[in-house]
Amino acid sequence: MGGVVKRAYKYRFYPTGEQAEQLHRTFGCVRLVYNKTLEMRTRAYATQRRSISYAESSAVLTEWKRTEELAFLNDVSSVPLQQALRHLHAAYAAFFAKRARYPRFKSKRKSRASAEYTRSAFRWRDGQLTLAKMDAPLDIVWSRPLPEGVVPSTVTVSRDAAGRWFVSLLVEDPTVEALPSVDTAVGVDVGLTSLVTLSTGEKVTNPRHERADRRKLAKAQREHARKEKGSANRAKARLKVARIHARIADRRRDHLHKLSTRLVRENQTVVIEDLTVRNMLRNHRLARAISDAAWSDLRAMLEYKAAWYGRTLVTVDRWLPSSKLCADCGQLTESLPLTIRTWQCPCGATHDRDINAARNLLAAGLADR
Ligand SMILES: [Zn+2]
Repeated sequence: MGGVVKRAYKYRFYPTGEQAEQLHRTFGCVRLVYNKTLEMRTRAYATQRRSISYAESSAVLTEWKRTEELAFLNDVSSVPLQQALRHLHAAYAAFFAKRARYPRFKSKRKSRASAEYTRSAFRWRDGQLTLAKMDAPLDIVWSRPLPEGVVPSTVTVSRDAAGRWFVSLLVEDPTVEALPSVDTAVGVDVGLTSLVTLSTGEKVTNPRHERADRRKLAKAQREHARKEKGSANRAKARLKVARIHARIADRRRDHLHKLSTRLVRENQTVVIEDLTVRNMLRNHRLARAISDAAWSDLRAMLEYKAAWYGRTLVTVDRWLPSSKLCADCGQLTESLPLTIRTWQCPCGATHDRDINAARNLLAAGLADR
């Protein structure tokens, strides 16, 4: 057991002025290629009911580079541009498989700027990383060590709204060992009042400080809105908003990491709901309790950690009336408004809505296997 798993290691780095300029240009080209291709694919489908393949979009990119208007695309590494086409292709595949919404345009302000480099577009020597079109290696802060002797297969560079630069190295990590198996299983329900509720009866709340951070965020947003458009003070206020956003996201991620590690370590089987994007949209109150981003983060963490440690993650369809079904006797209650937190079944059992749902999820997940 154990064996080789892919694992991403993420670090901050500090680009030189020249590197920052090259990366900003690359981000801009990635966004442009992604958006132009999305527009082309949308038009082909809308007017001719025709689907454009990855190979076809790649040929079009080559043509664009030959035009005078888009010749500047040649100034950046071609690999991140090809990867943008692959990402768009994957986004379409997810859409057609009904796993995601229709791909959206990348906005300069709202989307996270990033560029992905595969093996041919970077040099890895003596633990130093040099990207294509650059002379010097990146100044990376090695906040935790990379495993001995690994070579990254993919490198993703990004910059968040708070202006911080990150590099994520995807490596094949041979160091993870499967844990000894245990015979416990747990159901994990998205709570309406807490972050998640476990079938054991435990309710996991949002990270500490989140409420205080949200108040600070609201205040910073009000201050930002009051500043005069285009002024230096407004730019400063916007950066402050972005910093608080980044802090909330970091803490939440950290919290989800701890939660997912604990669930996977303590249980052989973890059962969760398959909350697809469409279902989230249908239930706005649920969407507010846990953002779909947080939920998909948690799910992804559980997925890869289960694979690392030799555990099983089971997903159960959302159509299961998990909160209306009595986990003791199996009777279905007809209506259960979202405001009702506890209810009594004719069989005599009193249920906390979320705990009952988590218990049903667990039972359904174990039955599915
Ligand atoms: Zn009952």
